[in-house]
Amino acid sequence: MTKYVFVTGGVTSSLGKGIIAASIAKLLQARGFSTTIQKFDPYINVDPGTLNPYEHGECYVTEDGAETDLDLGHYERFLNVPTSQANNVTTGRIYQTVINKERAGAYLGKTVQIIPHITDEIKRRMLLLGSSGEYDIVITEIGGTVGDIESLPYIEAIRQLRWELGADNCITVHLTLIPFLSAAGELKTKPTQHSVKELLSAGIQPDILVCRTEHPLSMALRRKLSLFCNLATNAVIEARDAYSIYDVPILMLKEKLDLTIITKLRLADRKEPDLTKWKKFLGKLKNPVHEVRIGLVGKYLELQDAYKSIYEALVHAGVSNECKVEVVPVHSEDINADNIERKLMNLAGIIVAPGFGERGIEGKIKAIQYVREHNIPFLGICLGMQCAVVEFARNVVGLSDAASTEMNPDTATPIIALMQDQKEVQNLGGTMRLGSYNCQLTKGSLIEGIYRQKNIKERHRHRFEFNNEYLEALQNAGMQATGINPDTQLVEAVELPNHRWFVGVQFHPEYKSTVENPHPLFVDFVRECLVDKV
Ligand code: GLN
Repeated sequence: MTKYVFVTGGVTSSLGKGIIAASIAKLLQARGFSTTIQKFDPYINVDPGTLNPYEHGECYVTEDGAETDLDLGHYERFLNVPTSQANNVTTGRIYQTVINKERAGAYLGKTVQIIPHITDEIKRRMLLLGSSGEYDIVITEIGGTVGDIESLPYIEAIRQLRWELGADNCITVHLTLIPFLSAAGELKTKPTQHSVKELLSAGIQPDILVCRTEHPLSMALRRKLSLFCNLATNAVIEARDAYSIYDVPILMLKEKLDLTIITKLRLADRKEPDLTKWKKFLGKLKNPVHEVRIGLVGKYLELQDAYKSIYEALVHAGVSNECKVEVVPVHSEDINADNIERKLMNLAGIIVAPGFGERGIEGKIKAIQYVREHNIPFLGICLGMQCAVVEFARNVVGLSDAASTEMNPDTATPIIALMQDQKEVQNLGGTMRLGSYNCQLTKGSLIEGIYRQKNIKERHRHRFEFNNEYLEALQNAGMQATGINPDTQLVEAVELPNHRWFVGVQFHPEYKSTVENPHPLFVDFVRECLVDKV
């Protein structure tokens, strides 16, 4: 029978619930359990695709084209198994399902209410992945903080499931903060006590308490928490601030979090966790031989979470090259003809980031012109590739008003434009080209050498495409389309054979980079940047 672990959060947001959930899953996977993680988010958007990256960080895209919370990226990077639409559910999606059923007449004669109709739909989805029989353990992270009005139906659903499935099959791990008051020189447990009371008043006794803290939790403090929160001391787990998110599974292993979980779930007869590969990765991460500075040109740079997967893909690629990658954020809006040299000259390579809308676009184009002309390694991702095409069309082919119709709908040279199917789109939620598509790489191209295969699959999230009417002009001038979608003939990758390393990809390679399988494009890009690093 599938067992369920729920992860809730208390006291404040941003405690790293996603990393704790992913670490639990990693440890259980390393013990030989088949494990998956899902996230339930208590907001009304049907998916995070319509949220501003400033507010919610990156929108992560799964193989099957779901726009999801960035925590799913952590799940894939830690576990090395793909997630899907079913792994991320929002309140919006729950209500949409219930309301659609109501309109279809599924509840005729009944008053449709939060309890039982919304909570039943939450429970149905909480059990959905487990019902396939594929997993020994399903970990469910509940977004938000216990005590928020909007998370109440989720907490109630967990309470009911615990009752229905039994305490051996369903447990709750509660993550809280133990703040350090420097004036008093003390760690304080009161906010955690209150948070646990909040859960208790909703009918849930947490089985394990994971305490985020800047300082070690003394035995006395663990005893205090144990007494006031009705838990054995071994169920009070310390989660100290870590050097890297990839340290957290090891820290949790030292605290025996996995052992406590499997004991509570009566699964304790499994082998010790095998984390050989993980530890090797960590060893290299902490002992780099080289260092390299890579510029990330984008516009949501104040918030690292907005480009989470790119940052992590660079960490993985750095480890593969035994190198520490320092990512230097370069605001595309701040780039102009006077400062470009100063901003870019000390960088070994640049990545131009994905993005939407006109803001900052000319800065991206200027940066690309600079690296093209100075033979500096360049990786353009999605909008980054589109900008590379526009730059080349304008400055090399001589099509001076070349533009994407996203930025300039009236341009006479729509080199990046909407295809017919996108022109017909009316609703903007969930209607981009999303998820995994086939791509065929040109024999002998740089990118084919990097992937070492001809047919690849990569994930997409965009509306606009390269306009094939201009393909010949570009190829004649030296920009080659080296990745083509074999089903639609859309251009998925471009490169400049005369440049030392210049690749633009319409897809998002960063979504597929994991600790175990660093993405070849990032690995090779970092390798090239190291050749004459700055
Ligand atoms: N805004 C561009 C498009 O919709 C690129 C999107 C992206 O970079 N993800 O096509």
